[in-house]
Parts: sequence; C-alpha cells; structure tokens
Amino acid sequence: MAAWILPIAFAIAASCSGGEQREARRVVIITCDTLRADRLGMYGHERDTSRELDRFAADAVVYESAWCAVPVTVPALSSMFTGWLPHEIGSIYTNRNQIPSEVETLAETVRARGIDTAAFVSNGVLRRPPAEMGDVGLAQGFELYDDEMKSRELQRPIVERTAADCADAALRWLEGRKAASDDEFLLWVHFQDPHGPYTPPEEADVYRGASYGRRLAAADKSMGVRGAIPAYQFLPEESSSDRRDGDPARYADLYDAEIRWFDQHAGRVLQWLRDQGWYDDALIIFTADHGESLGERDWWFCHGESLHAEQVRVPMVVRAPGGKRAEQGRAREERAVSHLDVHPTVIDALGIEAKPTRGSSLLAGRPPAERPISAYLANAGKDRPAYAISDGRWRLVVDARDPLALHDLSRDLAEREDLSAANPGEVARLQALHDAWFQARSSSSAGRERPMDATTRRAMSGLGYTDGDGDGH
Ligand SMILES: [Zn+2]
Repeated sequence: MAAWILPIAFAIAASCSGGEQREARRVVIITCDTLRADRLGMYGHERDTSRELDRFAADAVVYESAWCAVPVTVPALSSMFTGWLPHEIGSIYTNRNQIPSEVETLAETVRARGIDTAAFVSNGVLRRPPAEMGDVGLAQGFELYDDEMKSRELQRPIVERTAADCADAALRWLEGRKAASDDEFLLWVHFQDPHGPYTPPEEADVYRGASYGRRLAAADKSMGVRGAIPAYQFLPEESSSDRRDGDPARYADLYDAEIRWFDQHAGRVLQWLRDQGWYDDALIIFTADHGESLGERDWWFCHGESLHAEQVRVPMVVRAPGGKRAEQGRAREERAVSHLDVHPTVIDALGIEAKPTRGSSLLAGRPPAERPISAYLANAGKDRPAYAISDGRWRLVVDARDPLALHDLSRDLAEREDLSAANPGEVARLQALHDAWFQARSSSSAGRERPMDATTRRAMSGLGYTDGDGDGH
C-alpha cells in the first residue's frame, strides 16, 4: 500500500515531453458550463443533443473518465488553467475567490512566448474582477478577455451570454485574423447554456419524454436544497396553476435542449476553423467546468452540492494537431484524466518548456494507469474540505452531506453502488492516498475575495437569495 503512495508525493513535476518543436499553431479550448458527459451522444446519450461535437469527437480522443477538481465554476476553471488544485492557487471552492496575480496561468505562459491569447466567456461569475482588485482571476494573461453579457437569468439578477452571442463574438475575432496565414493563438470560448435555469430557445426545445410520475415543489432557497427544485431553477411556465412545482422529467428535457443549442453554436466555431484551414494544425480541447445533478441522491438541478460523478465527471475530448490520435493511445480512453491535464497538454502541443503542475500531458501517450485524481467542496468547512479521491479505478467520496461512499469506476462510472462496507481496506488506502496527495505541495497562494457589487447584493437580498455564495454557481 504505502509502497506507491510515497512516490506520488514526488510526482509533481514537469511531466510532458516538452520539446522545443512546436506542433500546434493554434490552441482552441471550448468549455461548456454545467455539462454532464452522459448527456452527450459520444458518451452514450440516446438523444441527439451533440451532433456537432460528436462529429468533432470522431477524429479526436474521447476520455471516458474525466474529472474536474471542484463542481463550482471559478475554482474549477482556475484549477484547469493553472494545473493546480484549488487550495494551492487561492481559489478555494467558491466563485468569489479569485486566483492572485502571483499565480501564473496558462494564458500568461503562452502569451509570454509571443502567442496571442483571447477569451470569450458567458457566465456572470467569469466577468473580469473590478480593476481595483488588481490583476487577479482567470482573465490574467488574456490579451482580449471578452465578458460582454447582455442576457440575464430568469430568476436572479445575474448576467449571462447566450451560445449564439458567444459564438458570434468569437467568430468576429477569428474573422479579424484571417489575413494572417501564420496566425498563432490560444482561444478560449466558454458557453453557458446548460447552466440553469433551463430556458432554451423554442427551436431547440425538441425533446418531450415521459413524465417523471411525480412533481417536485420549488424551494424558497436558491441553492443547497434536497428533494426540491432550487429557486433559481424554477420555471413558472412549467408549474401547476395552484402551486410552485414542476415535473422533473420536463426539466431534464429542457436541460438536453440547452445542450443541443450550445452544440449548434460550438459547431459553428469548429466549422469556421475547418473552412479556414485552421482546424488541422490546431490542438482542440472540449470539456465542461463541472456537471449537474438531475435527481441523483435526491439533488435536483444543481451543482456545488455533491462530489459524486453527476457533478464532477465531465466530458473531455482532445484532438491533437493533425488529428494524430495514435499518439494519444486510442480513440476512446478509459484511463482517468482530469482538468489538471489541460495545462500540460497545451504546453506540450506548443513546444513550450514544461512547468511543474499536478497534471500530465495527454499528447504523450496513454495517461498513467494509476494516479490520484481528487475533487473538493467547502461544505465541511474551508479548512477541512469535503473530498473525493480516485486512483483511476476506485473512487472514494468523503462528503459532509452524504455517507462516505466507495465506487468501482471500472464498472460504475455513474457511481450508483456504494462498495465501502465490503472493502474497508480500499477505503483506508484511498484515505491515506489522499492525505499524501493533498499535502504534496508545500507552498500555496492566498486568493482574493471578489466583492459583490452593491446593486447585486441589494437585488439578491430583496429576492431572498442570500444563501450560498450569493453570486451563483
Ligand atoms: Zn459552472
């Protein structure tokens, strides 16, 4: 047992091949908010929610077992764009904790090599922090950080951007670069649509499944409620005339419709790259910041509440420059990967000298068969976060809101069956593995807490949304 825990503590190192040969001219990272892997065709969903991304996946590598570090937008993406766990970069589990300027982001590393960087984001919590906070947060290193958002959520005064507007903005930027045939860039496009409330445009609202069989009441609280529809998700049009409730199956239909809408517009960006001849020599990565509970463990239409697969497992599809997926091992990879692998993968593709991170390049052959992959939530207190730890096959969830649970990912990626009672030795081994993994890096950075602006605070409090972060998940 201990024989392989110790080497893990020293495994944080430059792990990619990292030669000076630059393979990719361009890097495109497409992320989608609140998108469960298992609602996409490439991951076996029976509905046609993802025609465009399935086409992209057809000559890329689909990672079956991919995980974020925290099911909350800002810390999840902060971890992804640095290759470190959230507590190591001061982004501890809430949307308000911004990574400080001393943490070097992927965009900063890439830009320092003279490569242009641009981001188009669509979730209100990803807006650039106020200037008086200094150079903090995910915008660091992006020469252009386009966070213009003209839409707002149905129930909360939180701004967002639709997939159509986000794709339009990214395409305008790409159009402006057409003249330069040797153009090099890192482009990040973050879509928001599957994030609740589920309000797809009519043209995408095409799924009508059977009723769930019972209706759920809408809660008064926006977040952190079990057995009910969170207030921020409540759709008045789907409610009975005499009470605030809804058919959860209809909500799931609308969730799928949002994915379909996002997919169409992500597809426009991919098609533009194909048409322009900029597709083939690009590294293209598609993933989500986190998943969404659709009733598992009685959590409905929420994230940031649980460390189980429905909230932490994400799609991960990577197309190497030239579509050379042989270099990544196979077309579908069952070995576990994580958001922490995105940073070293991009660095590897651009031929930049590798930096120490927690992850491994996905272009350097198959991912390691056994390595720790962890996830966190603050619900046990910020000093003692709830955690989940996996060695690739087993996954242990130690979460204050649920009983401890052990899952065998080799046959239960959805984490339906708890095997902890029959496998106490595995539970103890994974707890020890986590202790070593969590403490492996000695230094950490303090984050900067983003102030909530007065207008938002007043509006939220007037609507009764004073729980949780106050600024959504
Ligand atoms: Zn999110």
